[in-house]
Amino acid sequence: MAIATHHNHHSLHCQNHNPLHCIVPSYILQELAQQGSPIQRERAQNALTVSDQTRVERQQIADEAPRRSFRLAEVVKQRTIYDAGFETQLPGRPVRTEGDPPTGNPAVDEAYDGSGETFALFHEVYQRNSVDDQGLHLKSTVHYGKGYDNAFWNGKQMSYGDGDEDLPEEERIFNRFTTAIDIIAHELTHGVVQYEAGLIYQDQPGALNESFADVFGCLVKQRKFNQAVDEADWIVGAGLFTANVNAQGIRSMKAPGTAYNDPRLGKDRQPGHMRDLYKGSEDKGGVHINSGIPNRAFYLAATEIGGYAWEKAGRIWYLTLRDKLDRTSDFQEAAQQTLQVAAELFGLGSLEQQAVRKSWAEVGIDVETPVISKAEPAGCMLAPAAIFRSLFNLK
Ligand SMILES: [Zn+2]
Repeated sequence: MAIATHHNHHSLHCQNHNPLHCIVPSYILQELAQQGSPIQRERAQNALTVSDQTRVERQQIADEAPRRSFRLAEVVKQRTIYDAGFETQLPGRPVRTEGDPPTGNPAVDEAYDGSGETFALFHEVYQRNSVDDQGLHLKSTVHYGKGYDNAFWNGKQMSYGDGDEDLPEEERIFNRFTTAIDIIAHELTHGVVQYEAGLIYQDQPGALNESFADVFGCLVKQRKFNQAVDEADWIVGAGLFTANVNAQGIRSMKAPGTAYNDPRLGKDRQPGHMRDLYKGSEDKGGVHINSGIPNRAFYLAATEIGGYAWEKAGRIWYLTLRDKLDRTSDFQEAAQQTLQVAAELFGLGSLEQQAVRKSWAEVGIDVETPVISKAEPAGCMLAPAAIFRSLFNLK
């Protein structure tokens, strides 16, 4: 009894302070651990406990991660997929490396292709050389744990559970976590954030960290399927939940708060406006909750600008993350800096800059007109210095 009490206390403590970047927030798993069937409860509890075990390792890695200081000229795409064999030892046995043909194992091949598509967006559109901009080897572990209902970035690699694939049809809540390419891209983007702004995983900086991961998660998916802003679903994790669950996905960038509503998972808690900002201490101050606000700002800006979201809105958000924000940036600063970048890239008073200002205002964040130095002429055409910086990836 004493052991059980201690264990429970420890788990609860770590759920609150766990810096591991999981796709399924602990508040959804806690709901499932209360409302699910016996096996669903057991799995939800297991997913919460596994996060706990990897916490210490994750913190050590985060402390080591350096901010990029120089750039290698050679672009290297290097992927390796490992099989954990339903254990939780990382990374597991290598089963597919760069250039190998498909294995026929869906989780292995989806992790391989999804990390390739993510690398491609960052490289081909934003000239970024992998997650750290220095050719970081992309490592993914599949078949992580037994009936593990989550996926995470631990500071140096991705891991994916198989969800409830092994359960009888009617008991299944989650499909395997490599099913949705935006989940793969979301996890890898946590790596990009770690090497750039380094946003701390708490309160508004943490919600921005989550939001950038959702933004580029969606952009990787939209680019893969060649979807313009009005063709995309703007849902994060579509296909993750089985048909047994009343859910479109895990979050909606278009309409935060509407992604799911199910007796076993609860209702989507995301606000889409500052007046509904969550101010409690759950979920590290609402990192997966309040991300709905900057998510919606991105959706609105991208939609107003039109076309393919990764080309203009995505570039504004990417350069803001890379060059403008730091560990403690909040929503107001993110709004101000996206406006600044939009003005530098497209000119003061441009459609793009006005779309960005309008989109933040619609979620309750007003920003001042940016100031651009005389050395960087803007307003009529694209600012040459800004284009140069963007093309050559200079700070
Ligand atoms: Zn995340």
